[in-house]
Formats: sequence, structure tokens, C-alpha cells
Amino acid sequence: MAATFEVPDLHAPALTGELRRLAPNVARLVAPNPSALTGAGTNSYIIGTGPEFAVVDPGPDDARHVERVLAATGGRISHVLCTHSHPDHSPGAAALKSATGAIVLGRPAPDDGYQDESYRPDATLTDGDRISPAGANLRVLHTPGHASNHVCLLLEPEGWLMTGDHLMGGSTVVILPPDGSMRLYLESLRQLRTLPLAALLPGHGAVMADPLGEIDRVLAHRLQRESKVIDGLMTLGSGATLDALVPVVYADTPVRLHPLARHSLLAHLQKLLEERRVAQDGEHWTWLAA
Ligand SMILES: [Zn+2]
Repeated sequence: MAATFEVPDLHAPALTGELRRLAPNVARLVAPNPSALTGAGTNSYIIGTGPEFAVVDPGPDDARHVERVLAATGGRISHVLCTHSHPDHSPGAAALKSATGAIVLGRPAPDDGYQDESYRPDATLTDGDRISPAGANLRVLHTPGHASNHVCLLLEPEGWLMTGDHLMGGSTVVILPPDGSMRLYLESLRQLRTLPLAALLPGHGAVMADPLGEIDRVLAHRLQRESKVIDGLMTLGSGATLDALVPVVYADTPVRLHPLARHSLLAHLQKLLEERRVAQDGEHWTWLAA
């Protein structure tokens, strides 16, 4: 691989366009798609020590990025795995497959208008599967929440979890109902807590060294927001709308982020609805006292 001269550094920052060896059997190539939502760009992980490699999250369909992945692997890619089918994660799969004959693995895309429509996995990954692409041992964990077809991949025995967009360094994951589900997101996080994790390798940003601390931080943050949603519903009284709730529930969030926060608010309300703690009447939401 092109970067074998580099000293592995698991905790190096993720920089746009950079190929970085994290360990003898894992390298990270950051796609050139930096933005407010993607950070420095999408992380494509190249797994294996050769002669064949597996790629986790091929990233956007960007010719420069695809060429760099091919250069880093000498074009010897046996498997391409996608954590989910959002447009910053899976579109590169088709180009890598046609260049190398790689098998594409993941879960089929739902049809909600937010997915990569070119995405066609050759085989479906199922929760609990243990697979060995390019000689690596990976355990598949179905983690719906950010997207219904989201999986995390656990590299064993290292205990390194490739988290896609389920957990990202330093920023809050967007949950877009109806394909995104806050209830399932929190359930998936609690499932991950039970695993022997040593590090989180996210779809965006640097490796996180304290998996349990990070998972607990995210759980606490979401539950704290949920209690603000409940406070807002109680303050506004019966029949509150999203427009009325956003400035109350997200009083601590810059106004420019309120359109994004609206999605999260809806995700929180859906969770409370599924738990029968709120009632919905069209655009109006009412807290049901316990
Ligand atoms: Zn992403």
C-alpha cells in the first residue's frame, strides 16, 4: 500500500484528502467532501495487509477519491462494505466494483429520497454476521437510528468499531424521520455499550479512544434534550407546534441551526409518541402527563 512507510498513528487527526496509516492492517483515506455536516470529509477505511484489501465506506462518487483508493490498494479490492447508503458514504462503491470486481456488502437502501440511488449491495449484511473480507475478522452490528439500514463493523480482536454515522467525533448525529428513528438510535447505542470496544473509528473525524465514555456522553446529551422537549411541551400547553417548540427547546442552539434542529425535535417527538408519552393531532403535539 502506498503509505506503508508511515509510522502508524491511530489517533492522528482526520484531514481532508489525507491517506493515513492507523495500524498495520488499517488505513484511513479522507474523501475531498468537507462540509458542515461531513467535517473534514468522509472517512474511507482500507482494511487488510494485502495482497487483497477491503474498503469500508467508499465515500462519494468522486473520481479523485476513487483513484486514491485504487492507488492505495494497488487496485486489489475484494470487498467494499457500506455502513449505510447516504450520498456521502456509498456512491463510490459502483466505481470501485467496476474497476476491481469487488463484492459490495451492506443493507439495501430504503426509499425516502435521501439515499444513494446507485447503491446495490451484492449481498445483505445481517446483525451478528461474522465475515472475513481480505483476511480481517469483522462482526456486523445492525444499528438503525441515523438510517434504518445502518450497520457498524467491529474489527476483532482489536475491538475497533467502524461506526459510520452512528457516532461521529465532536458533532451530533442528525436523525431524519421517518427513516431515521431516535428510539432505535438510542437502543442501538445501548446495544453497543455491551461490546468489548477499544476504539471508535467514525465515518467522519478522528478515532475516539474512549468508546464507553463517548457512548454515555451521547446518550446523556440525547436524554437531556428529550427532557427539554418535555419541558417545552409542558410550558406551551396542549397542541404545541414544531415552530413554537424549536425556539424553546433549542434556546441554547444558534438560530442558524434551528432548521436542522427541527428534524431532531421531530425525531424526539416521534420517540415520545411511540412510547405513548405524547399525543399527536396533525401538526399539534401534547404532553400526556404520566
Ligand atoms: Zn456521513
